Amino acid sequence: MQKFSLAIHGGAGTILKEDMTPELEAAYMKGMEASLAVGFAVLEQGGSAVNAVKAAIISLEDNLLFNAGRGSVFTKKGVQEMDAAIMSGKDLAAGAVSGLRNVRNPIELANEVMLHSNHVFLSGKGANDFAIKQGIKLEPDEFFFSQFRYDQWKAIRDSDNYSLDHTHQGLEELMRDKKFGTVGAVACDQNGDIAAATSTGGMTNKKYGRIGDSPLIGCGTYANNKSCAISCTGHGEPFICAVAAHDVSCLMEYKGLSLEAAMDIVIHDKLPKMDGEGGMIGMDAAGNVSMQFNSAGMYRGMMNSEGEKIIAIYA
Ligand code: ASP
Repeated sequence: MQKFSLAIHGGAGTILKEDMTPELEAAYMKGMEASLAVGFAVLEQGGSAVNAVKAAIISLEDNLLFNAGRGSVFTKKGVQEMDAAIMSGKDLAAGAVSGLRNVRNPIELANEVMLHSNHVFLSGKGANDFAIKQGIKLEPDEFFFSQFRYDQWKAIRDSDNYSLDHTHQGLEELMRDKKFGTVGAVACDQNGDIAAATSTGGMTNKKYGRIGDSPLIGCGTYANNKSCAISCTGHGEPFICAVAAHDVSCLMEYKGLSLEAAMDIVIHDKLPKMDGEGGMIGMDAAGNVSMQFNSAGMYRGMMNSEGEKIIAIYA
């Protein structure tokens, strides 16, 4: 039988054991465990890679610890604006959304765009209108409130700075101690089809409708059965300019590199030269997984049909 696998991430950055309490670490591990369990159950039951990544992401979006859906960071205006994308490697179909307000699970809307619109990418009010038309679940602003993200935002809201998530400190530490919290998933199903999905609240104190790499097909999210499925996390701007996810795919498709070797070039050579701090998870159509990052840590996990399972935070 074809090997089937799932991998997830919950963001990369300066995640150090000495900054973590045992309780918080346990809560992150539990959140990743739950996401892997629901996503992997889809694959075990013969479900598609697309449905597996969607299920894994919904679980992370509903968890306040991660910067996506319910746990999204605050913008300069003190609201949440969320981005998400999903892509199917079998037919190169994709759906993406950005600048969403009040949508409980942005990945569900991205999936609706992929399946039930003539478009690939919807933004802002139009995307919200489409959510209403498709009967996607909306929630009031209070649903998305979390005290630690509010405090994180309060520390920098009067400045022009924007910051890269998952931090509980003041401005100075915030800017020095960059952390990212986007969520992502990649899967390979029993048919050997692969898929990728990414969802994020973006960056704390972002303004002017800033959009990162996460919803951009080829930058933060990409899937192609001929090469790989990739979901990125990190400082979005360099990942956009590097077209990071598609670059891994090209190295595999045109140069014949393995997933591991292609990701190594992009994460450890290309991105650092552009100040691109972060990481990515990847999957090939044989169900092989790679999880690489150039930051101190990345919340990550994988499971496959051969009984392998990893859940880890630090390097
Ligand atoms: N890549 C995301 C962005 O720039 C942030 C993250 O991964 O945490 O919006």
